[in-house]
Amino acid sequence: MATERVYTRDVSEHIGKQITLKGWAETIRDQGKIAFVVLRDVTDNVQLVITQNDNASVLKQVQNLSTESVIEVTGTAQESDQAPGGREVKINAITVLSEAADLPIPVVEKEEDQTPHISKRLDYRWVDLRKPENRFIFEVWTEVEKAFEEFCRQDNFLEIHSPKIMSSPSEGGSEYFEVNYFDENAYLSQSPQFYKQMAMAAGFEKVFEVGAVFRAEKSFTPRHATEFTGFDVEMSFISDLSDLITWEERMLHYVFTHVRDTLGNRISEMYGTEVVVPEIPFPRLTMKEAKEILSGRNIPSKSPIDVSPEEERALGEYTREQYGHEFVFLTDYSTGVRPFYHMRREEDNGITKSADLLYRGLEITTLAQREHRPEILEKQAEEKGIDKASVDYYIDFFRYGCPPHGGMGIGPSRIIKQMLGLESIREATYLFRGPKRMSP
Ligand code: ATP
Repeated sequence: MATERVYTRDVSEHIGKQITLKGWAETIRDQGKIAFVVLRDVTDNVQLVITQNDNASVLKQVQNLSTESVIEVTGTAQESDQAPGGREVKINAITVLSEAADLPIPVVEKEEDQTPHISKRLDYRWVDLRKPENRFIFEVWTEVEKAFEEFCRQDNFLEIHSPKIMSSPSEGGSEYFEVNYFDENAYLSQSPQFYKQMAMAAGFEKVFEVGAVFRAEKSFTPRHATEFTGFDVEMSFISDLSDLITWEERMLHYVFTHVRDTLGNRISEMYGTEVVVPEIPFPRLTMKEAKEILSGRNIPSKSPIDVSPEEERALGEYTREQYGHEFVFLTDYSTGVRPFYHMRREEDNGITKSADLLYRGLEITTLAQREHRPEILEKQAEEKGIDKASVDYYIDFFRYGCPPHGGMGIGPSRIIKQMLGLESIREATYLFRGPKRMSP
């Protein structure tokens, strides 16, 4: 008689009862007259046991089973001192739902150094993600995204989904993908920047978007992808950059509290790191202050107006030592490293009203007040050598009344990389896209 499916996590609640389990045959240990299988499902795993005396034909089926086949088994849940978790299931029926061929990469590595190279793991991502600690990254992702969206909604933000096909590159520069669009050229959106600002002109007041961002960057760093998911936010009637900084502080405090409360224990068990809820206010440093600190620490500076990854890491260490904080806002970026639409300081036109936020020494956000006055925008675009025709449609958004506004672009894969101490955003991305990777 078919019994209801039970998840492996709940087996202990069914001791003495017949249950059905479904999942993957993670390991199979055949000892002749007795065999053991570790069955893994989405919640946990459990040992299955079958002996010749109990059922010789089921034992034979188990002996013919290949590792990682998908199976359905029925049997009795029982306590067991030897089995992991103190429980096991003595099975009396097995159905192979899908037989697995020889595995291209192991799901269970017998020795530590058996982990294949990341590129091989990405080739077989669907097998790689069966490892519970890899799958778990997407539980973290789900909670981060949920909390981010919840925070925005509670704060009366509207959710938008802006188009990813554009008639001109959204951020200019050379980092765009050009695609055929019937008889014309189109460009994949490098950020929802222009269209989220359009929502300000439309009177939406506050918007957020979770969506795909495309960057034709030939970067092979642990923090760059050519396609990634961005969290974008834009809000109206701000007084200055500080309003954006304090909003992001509150948002991250909310997100980190949620992740710590829901997954903090499992994160420290699996990844050996604590989710630290950041105290408000976060430390802030101007670029000038940052450069002084870095030079005091003998960190080489490639540019006086920007920070390299090495400098970002050193600033992360500095703020940890100095303030016991994992975040730091870096302000007062020069116009030389910022786009034309960032608003500039009244008292110093070479400095933008923008910031980057670093988490554990890695940039995770760029924030800025935007220039909403069309004549100044035109001037700033011209100064940057941007073809007027390509941004006219954008500057039009501000011709018919648009409130002062600003916003930010956040990289969730970088947040998760840093939160779990992963080597690269490749690990924190469901299917990574880089200059040399378009499949699977
Ligand atoms: P970087 O200087 O590290 O290349 P950026 O200044 O180009 O980043 P922004 O254009 O300001 O980044 O994008 C906003 C946020 O989006 C960044 O702070 C980061 O978290 C994320 N991000 C940017 N580029 C990438 C990328 N190629 N892959 C993954 N995340 C990215």
